[in-house]
Amino acid sequence: MSDLQTFAASLSKHIRDAERIAIMSHVSPDGDNLGSLDAMYGYLTGLDKDVVYIGNDDVPEDFTFLTYAKERVDVEELRDEVFDLLIALDSSDIDRFGDEGREIFLKAEKTANIDHHLSNDRFADINYVVPKATSTGEVLFRVLEALDARITPEMATALYTAISTDTGSFQYDSVDAETHRVVAKLYDAGCDHNIVVNAVYQSRSREKLALMTRVLSKIQFLASGKVAMVSCLLKDLEATGASSDDTEGIVEQLRNIKGVEMAVFLKEKQDEVKLSFRSKSYLNCIEFAEEFDGGGHVRAAGASAHVSIEKVEGKVRALVDEKIDAERA
Ligand code: 5GP
Ligand code: MN
Repeated sequence: MSDLQTFAASLSKHIRDAERIAIMSHVSPDGDNLGSLDAMYGYLTGLDKDVVYIGNDDVPEDFTFLTYAKERVDVEELRDEVFDLLIALDSSDIDRFGDEGREIFLKAEKTANIDHHLSNDRFADINYVVPKATSTGEVLFRVLEALDARITPEMATALYTAISTDTGSFQYDSVDAETHRVVAKLYDAGCDHNIVVNAVYQSRSREKLALMTRVLSKIQFLASGKVAMVSCLLKDLEATGASSDDTEGIVEQLRNIKGVEMAVFLKEKQDEVKLSFRSKSYLNCIEFAEEFDGGGHVRAAGASAHVSIEKVEGKVRALVDEKIDAERA
């Protein structure tokens, strides 16, 4: 049996044996996490299972169109619950669930982990991790196929959201013929790509635009222009009326600049700084994120630091000096 078939058989058994199943988002959920969770929720409720969708942090406005996003129950309300089966999607380690989510995860009778992060540490009882896959959405599609699941139009749209957002609209080098074959099957299953395009790519608020304009005017170029770095301060949010989620997409704008190999985006939060790294073709973002105890993928990684944003900026500069030969063509 292939790894996929072995995993699908175990998952199927755990689902059959379980009365109460939970699926859980990671903190700061993104399109891949939310799209995959939505599809999994659709599948499990279709089997007439008692399913709880555990939410960590709010759903960003762009993704509220997803069919089951409104079913989420805040993690804080579920602190004392013990689930028969807990399924994690798009989470590389248990720290991604936050303190309360981690407790709930550790108490669950059985746990499953479906993901595509290279740094995934196989934290569950059963794990299916495909690092070369574009997205957890693509991995989950394979799992659902192996389970002989009926993919409803809502599930297809959710999986399309996951794949589309985690590939930068099919631009990243992880995209291959297989990705497009999966997407073709999602169209066959009734995926509505217009709703995704409209909600995710064509609904930018004026406040978000004001934030992007303000923040992007402060770009710092390092290593002869190979690295572009920007910090978003709490006062930038205040001045523009934008929300913390509105920083989504800024790091990609930095990476898209000609000559830039790696983009670094720093976001000041109440008690921490969130770091995001993106690269184009040769720098490994994981190497940088790991310096701050984070992780992710070669082309996209992140971390959180509990020091001032000035200190984080200083450390990034030092790492860039150390790791990148500024003279290299
Ligand atoms: P983003 O920059 O969009 O927050 O994250 C980019 C990638 O890095 C995502 O795949 C995400 O899962 C991963 N990532 C972001 N923050 C963290 C973190 O604090 N720890 C780990 N291990 N991975 C992270
Ligand atoms: Mn992902």
